Amino acid sequence: MSKLDSPDRVKPAAPPPPAPAPLYANRTRIYPKAVTGTVRRAKWAILALCLGLYYTVPLLRWDRGPALPNQAVLVDMQNARLFFFWIEIWPQEVYYLTGLLVLGAIGLFAATSLFGRVWCGFACPQTVWTDLFMWVERRIQGDRNERMRLDKQNWSREKLLKKGATHAAWLAIAAATGGAWIMYFNDALAMTRDFFTLRASGTVYFFFGLFTATTYLLAGWAREQVCTYMCPWPRFQAAMLDESSLVVSYRGWRGEPRGKAKAAGVGDCVDCRACVNVCPTGIDIRDGLQLECIGCGLCIDACDDIMARLDRPKGLIAFETFANIAASEAAAKPLPPGPARLACGMQARTPTRFLRPRTWLYLGVLGLVAGIMAGSYMLRETLSLAVIRERAPLFVRLSDGGIRNAYALKLASKTRETEMLSLVLDGPAGLQMLVQDAEADAQGRPVLVTRPDGITQWRALVTAPPGLRLPENIPVTFRLIDAEGRIAVSEASVFLGPKP
Ligand code: SF4
Ligand code: SF4
Repeated sequence: MSKLDSPDRVKPAAPPPPAPAPLYANRTRIYPKAVTGTVRRAKWAILALCLGLYYTVPLLRWDRGPALPNQAVLVDMQNARLFFFWIEIWPQEVYYLTGLLVLGAIGLFAATSLFGRVWCGFACPQTVWTDLFMWVERRIQGDRNERMRLDKQNWSREKLLKKGATHAAWLAIAAATGGAWIMYFNDALAMTRDFFTLRASGTVYFFFGLFTATTYLLAGWAREQVCTYMCPWPRFQAAMLDESSLVVSYRGWRGEPRGKAKAAGVGDCVDCRACVNVCPTGIDIRDGLQLECIGCGLCIDACDDIMARLDRPKGLIAFETFANIAASEAAAKPLPPGPARLACGMQARTPTRFLRPRTWLYLGVLGLVAGIMAGSYMLRETLSLAVIRERAPLFVRLSDGGIRNAYALKLASKTRETEMLSLVLDGPAGLQMLVQDAEADAQGRPVLVTRPDGITQWRALVTAPPGLRLPENIPVTFRLIDAEGRIAVSEASVFLGPKP
């Protein structure tokens, strides 16, 4: 019996289980390097457009006539109205805002299924402002290596000046952002004057402070952590992707195995880490699609630059579909690295299918919702009547035995003109109607006068004279008749009485 087979052999103790990963990890500071290229230029253009629109739209004017705000885009909280150029939304029409949110959500789904996280990488406010803050930081403190050196060195006059200037510039941008935000809720020109002469309301200063602080903290300090930990979108955007979605991808079949530029038998990736150094979220795209990747495409520019310097074809990292990555890999991987493998892989690609069932569905729903909203806006009534029956008491028995119901009539006009409308009551013959404070027309009908772009309220008393035998609950309809005798608007209600 060998020594190993001996029953006396003592079994070695099992290794202790690995310690659970900590739930909290310190942030690793990211120092994205500046990069130039096609994607970067596109990002600058979109950034300039987004910021330009955000800061200047409140200054645009739109003539709506006297007594109405002339700001093109205004959320008028005091008068409960939303103005967007020629469109005016009343509180009762808040469903248009719901429709806009639905349109935004479906548009985002469609864009994601076509181009991956294009919203996150190019147009999301968090990305746009963070990009701007990084640009400022780079201008003052220098590029990646200089910033890393500055952070490592002890506090000195130079460090103090550079850091102070960066934060001052960030705060100035944040204040401009907060200032522009409040202009969407007040007349921008009057607001600016009141703001600087300290005559604006406390609410205005509160929201200015809130948006200044959040811009400074989110774009200056939190940065990629907002996308990685706070935003829910990365968690479920994968559900919108399919094999034909264009996403930022590393063509591993071409790049691997990595190795030095002059080494034999290696792929095109020289492991220079330029793609990692420019990444605003600090990830390595060569590890595959990751939750942290916002799809900004800056790694494409960085790698294209390296490929150009090495005199190799660009596109080692590219906007590519999962289907093409798989097809290229299957066709090219058996070949040794080199031009033949590259040509074989690229030939295996198929054109991107932009129109497919998923995108048809999104575009169809998008068109449908947009069509419904546009149609309902064009056909919307300019006059509305709300009839609210007084409930306490349900009815009054008059001294002569008659029964009386009272109604509050709310007449909302969305036009700029005053209208005079005669009120008639459709119901059982014999019911009498009186509207308090209303004049009567030639036929003795009460005349309700609308307020331009406003609401008027009236109190109508409807009486069943003694002797009129009615059931307990009778439907009635209030109709408003215009000068041409057409029914302008009508609203149903009920007349209540005692049990017969
Ligand atoms: S991996 Fe590339 S696309 Fe993704 S966030 Fe980083 S730089 Fe942008
Ligand atoms: S930039 Fe290109 S070559 Fe350099 S490590 Fe990234 S993928 Fe490889």
